[in-house]
Amino acid sequence: MTEKTLNQTVLEMFCDTDNEMRPMLNKPFSHKNMVYGTDAYFLAVINKDNVDKTYPEDSGMGEKCLKILPSININFTINVSNLRSKIESVPKVDGFDIIREDIECDACDGECEVEFEFEHNLQTYTTTADCPICDGEGLIYKSINKPNGTKVINPKAYCVIGNTLFHLIKISKLITAAEVLRLPEISLISTLGTNANATLFKIGDLNILLCNCSPSGSDLIGFTIDIN
Ligand SMILES: [Zn+2]
Repeated sequence: MTEKTLNQTVLEMFCDTDNEMRPMLNKPFSHKNMVYGTDAYFLAVINKDNVDKTYPEDSGMGEKCLKILPSININFTINVSNLRSKIESVPKVDGFDIIREDIECDACDGECEVEFEFEHNLQTYTTTADCPICDGEGLIYKSINKPNGTKVINPKAYCVIGNTLFHLIKISKLITAAEVLRLPEISLISTLGTNANATLFKIGDLNILLCNCSPSGSDLIGFTIDIN
């Protein structure tokens, strides 16, 4: 794969391909000389010259992206394999598969119909109709989390880079991007610490904006990286 193709892979990795409610997030879009890919949590940006594909123009979204991109005010290099080891050292949790199962509707006890009551002028009227909970099917779908034997990054674990709190899972995605691009380093290029809503990273030709997390006080901090 060429460098430009790898850039496209990473750009598309930060889109929200399955989001049916917000189809504008499904694919990268272009505006002026840049191409953007976002899932509303990450925003990946690259110059058009660094990709082969032509992405559709979306000036509305593009202008919004331009407004939220912070100016570059730092250049702190993070070694990808060191960062990977730090993440690996944080205790993992069981991975789950989400399984959909049909279970008996507990509103109608599987009878499909329920009795409705209506009162008017001290008189009570009753009628029987399809159960509104299961739409008269007698069954409801339930999602069950079933352990699948894997160990995954704890979704409640964070790390601190500088003064900023990040989800470990999100930082792990930056590592994946660097690995796809076969690059040994990620740079932190814009940070306003606790005053900012997002932090800008650079991986090769891509700038990637990542939303900060707000500390809750009970956060599980896996590790801290000092940037001073
Ligand atoms: Zn029912």
